[in-house]
Amino acid sequence: MNLSEDRAGLATVSNPIIVTTSWDDSDPLDLRLADMLRTKAVPGSFFVPLTGPDGRPTLGPGDLRSLQAEGFEIGAHTVSHRTLAPLRGEQLWTEVHRSKEVLENMLGHDVPMFCYPKGSYNQRTIRAVEKAGFEGARTVRMLSRGLRFNRYEMPTTLQAFPHTPLNYLRNLGKQGDFPSFYSYVTDLRACETWVQLGQKLFDRVLREGGIWHLYGHSWELGELNLWEQLAEMLDYVAGRPGVTYLTNGQVLRQPSVQQQLTN
Ligand SMILES: [Zn+2]
Repeated sequence: MNLSEDRAGLATVSNPIIVTTSWDDSDPLDLRLADMLRTKAVPGSFFVPLTGPDGRPTLGPGDLRSLQAEGFEIGAHTVSHRTLAPLRGEQLWTEVHRSKEVLENMLGHDVPMFCYPKGSYNQRTIRAVEKAGFEGARTVRMLSRGLRFNRYEMPTTLQAFPHTPLNYLRNLGKQGDFPSFYSYVTDLRACETWVQLGQKLFDRVLREGGIWHLYGHSWELGELNLWEQLAEMLDYVAGRPGVTYLTNGQVLRQPSVQQQLTN
């Protein structure tokens, strides 16, 4: 990692520039996605439910083991992709704990990261995720770039999806993140595509340090035919000097990130 000299911005060793990506639901199209990530040398974390949402197919154990063997991260995404916030007791514990146990047995490897289906969680959910032994969990919060967050509420920067401006504002409003809300209204809203928005946010991370985190679903890339846009997005952020490329779990284990985590 070389973050010292000639960058005009604020990036330093304690405020690094990190790129990470995460992909939910374990659709078989994750293999096509992994091909693209591999070609561009961008890491990825794949969050895998044991049964797919809405009866969708999921990758088999062999494919998951291969992905992991080549350096992609496999994380848990519950047993049955249920919305977690309303669950409690045994139902919640089964969705959280069993997903980790089954994946770990399948992979012969620790599964330290979790992702809340549809971004649904509350303090009870977080307690279950922590008790099950997960190191961290990803949310669907967007437009985040900073290093200060709760390890069980890991935010993202952008979804590989053509959201409307209203969607972004709703997402920010839910978080009560008013600086980001203001920044979106005054500046980012002018971006015409999600790729432009991602480029602009990446430029800010390059200048100021922080984490650029892209997330998405390969089935959605397929349905909306977003593959070319994704390639353009990844080309923009890949292979940059001074940038550290990490899986979600590796992000949480970075000393510079650990110093700033709020729990
Ligand atoms: Zn999901």
